[in-house]
Amino acid sequence: MLKNILVSTDGSAHAKKAEALAIDIASKYGAALVILSVIEGGALSEDAKRLAQQKGIDISAVLAGIDITAAAPEGAPIVLHAEYTLSTARVQAELAEIIITEAKEHAASHGVERVRCLTEGGDPAGAILKVAENENTDLIVMGSRGLGALKSLLMGSVSQKVSHLAPCSCITVK
Ligand code: ATP
Ligand code: MG
Repeated sequence: MLKNILVSTDGSAHAKKAEALAIDIASKYGAALVILSVIEGGALSEDAKRLAQQKGIDISAVLAGIDITAAAPEGAPIVLHAEYTLSTARVQAELAEIIITEAKEHAASHGVERVRCLTEGGDPAGAILKVAENENTDLIVMGSRGLGALKSLLMGSVSQKVSHLAPCSCITVK
């Protein structure tokens, strides 16, 4: 019944649970698995910085960039902002690569070999919906929360938007 499962991950604890469930379902159904991580750009949340550091990524330029841009006089920080944006994008891209590789290894260790790994840029919900359509997935698995800062919400904006607009069934893992 399930042939093509999409799991979208930002490496958060909830997304890790989503990965585990997606891998388990894929192995039981003999389904193919698409693993997607979206590089969303913008500033890194505290959780994203912590995760990047845990994974051994050098985030010193990001941390320094915050100090430099905060201290820069008005009108001056255009170049500094560009450096800061570049360094956050680099950290996010490195993190996405690590997250995807780990998820792929996790899938292989559970006998799921038909795996396609994708990293996309831009708005995560939009990218997830587009990949679900392009890859013809019949199930999307994601976490209820991610690396975002607003911990009081029950559901993050990405999982909310995807579950409302998805072309197929969704599981939101708590
Ligand atoms: P918000 O981003 O609205 O501040 P949040 O980060 O807590 O809140 P979401 O971003 O909605 O919550 O994350 C819920 C789930 O959506 C994650 O567990 C993950 O499965 C998926 N997700 C979120 N961001 C990404 C991303 N950049 N790439 C891939 N999947 C993502
Ligand atoms: Mg988020």
